[in-house]
Amino acid sequence: MIQDIAPHRLHNEYRPQIPTEDSLFICARGRKILIKEEEGTVIFPSFRELDEKEQEREFVYLFTVDSTAFFLGEEELSFEKQGYSWENVQKLRTLRPRHLAFAGVTGIQLSRWYCTRKFCGACGNRLEMDKKERMLYCPVCGTMEYPKICPAVIVGIIDGNRILVSKYAGREYKKYALIAGFAEIGETIEETVKREVMEEVGLKVKNIRYYKSQPWGFTDTLLLGFFCDLDGDGMISLDEEELALAQWMEREDIPDEGDEVSLTKEMMAVFKEGIV
Ligand SMILES: [Zn+2]
Repeated sequence: MIQDIAPHRLHNEYRPQIPTEDSLFICARGRKILIKEEEGTVIFPSFRELDEKEQEREFVYLFTVDSTAFFLGEEELSFEKQGYSWENVQKLRTLRPRHLAFAGVTGIQLSRWYCTRKFCGACGNRLEMDKKERMLYCPVCGTMEYPKICPAVIVGIIDGNRILVSKYAGREYKKYALIAGFAEIGETIEETVKREVMEEVGLKVKNIRYYKSQPWGFTDTLLLGFFCDLDGDGMISLDEEELALAQWMEREDIPDEGDEVSLTKEMMAVFKEGIV
């Protein structure tokens, strides 16, 4: 999966520092990221490519991968002149090396958070950065903001030798998926599983069991994967606003769609292989 980068390691502890020559930058703009791509390899802009005046600026520290520190890049930096271009963040699903692609996706999530939390939502004052933890606070009214991480479920509904697969309506992603959705206020994650399945396909489920989780920086999400069993009738009632298709698929008919990064695909693969 996208986060499986061993023996490389993401150090996400908050240890503000200043860049070194080898430090890299995540420059994000909407759904685009500033990178170079050379034969499937991703290259991020580096500190040494900045001019002298730019190097004197203060930069926001993000995290470290192995021993390389990443910083928040700002749009007005001169990287575009060095041959970097704005690419769709979805490209990071396939670029190599995987540990740098994962750094890019994680950086996009943090960058989006910093860029949309400049001012206090309660009183409008400029937020300041805390020194001890990754938190922004308002010096006037005390409001605190932490990075946006939205819990969501991915659900593999099993009925004997078949699993329920779906395709999203109106999204970029066109391959088979499992039922998925965000947790709502006031519910346990198991209740999220039951509610999303009922809303999207009109089915009841039982024996909900946790599989694995996955940070999914593309959408500020922490995905929690569950398998469960169909409870009762398997007749699908499709929510056509959310889904273009939902169908029962036999274990051996699950296609290999060449996606090694998503929890959804791993869950479909382990079901196909009979591991769950
Ligand atoms: Zn405030």
